[in-house]
Amino acid sequence: MRKTAVLTTLVLAFTLLLAQAACAELTKLADNVYSYVGSNDASPGHSFAANAGIVIGKEGVLVIDTLISAKEGQRFLADIRKVTDKPIRYVVNTHTHLDHALGNCVFAKLGATVISHEADRTYLAANGAGLLQRAANYGLKPEDMAGTEIALPTLAFSNEMLLDLGGEEVRLMRAAPSHTAGSLVVYLPAKKILFAGDILFTDFHPFLADGDFTGWIRTIDALLAMDVDKVVPGHGPLSGKKDLRDMKEYIQLFDKKATELAAQTSDADAISAELLKTLPKRTMAEWMVSYNVKSRYLAKK
Ligand SMILES: [Zn+2]
Repeated sequence: MRKTAVLTTLVLAFTLLLAQAACAELTKLADNVYSYVGSNDASPGHSFAANAGIVIGKEGVLVIDTLISAKEGQRFLADIRKVTDKPIRYVVNTHTHLDHALGNCVFAKLGATVISHEADRTYLAANGAGLLQRAANYGLKPEDMAGTEIALPTLAFSNEMLLDLGGEEVRLMRAAPSHTAGSLVVYLPAKKILFAGDILFTDFHPFLADGDFTGWIRTIDALLAMDVDKVVPGHGPLSGKKDLRDMKEYIQLFDKKATELAAQTSDADAISAELLKTLPKRTMAEWMVSYNVKSRYLAKK
């Protein structure tokens, strides 16, 4: 009897641990600033473990990225409501890849103004409907995407934008094309906090298919020169400047090695296997490296 009770408790504790570990949590980084990180469920339905965040001003809340679907956006909104009941005034998309922007509809319906860089607004306007139609290609099930609609940014900029949330100054900045043409960072100068979106992947192999490597390196150099203590990556745990330097090295190493290998063979699996021997150990190696090789180095063969 006692043994059964102990076992039941253990199973319950383990189940709770698993349930907790799977979801992101709003974590306070400074007064009024929270990151939504910590998901270790990188499945498509759980936004490939994409991160998000919020900044709370006197006038309302700024939401940074909205995850992959209405369902994920709702989960995020429910967690936001645990820390603030202020109106959601703005959403900013660090870029408009599906795992960062398809939850926009949840917040747009509440009256939030959705903001992005103009290049990524153009990308979502051209590809949004297709992303929804081809959701299965990304491993998404119909129930994952139920109720998801494309909510385009209604405000876009080209270089830099200042948002005054009332007592919280937020700068949206884009130095050059990087992870996408319009990938931007959200910078809180007074708190030395940076939301880098997918310009930074920490512990995850990055998605490189839409990247501009020259601009990406320039962008990372610009971020390294900024007064920053904490960096929230697009995927992975809370990071810092060391992780930005690692990201720069990763891109340079990947490009050099993949270019060399693609000159010798068109076998994507062979190139990926060889690359993985040199690249740092990171999550999602199974398909991300091979996808990056196929999309960038073998596409014309
Ligand atoms: Zn992305």
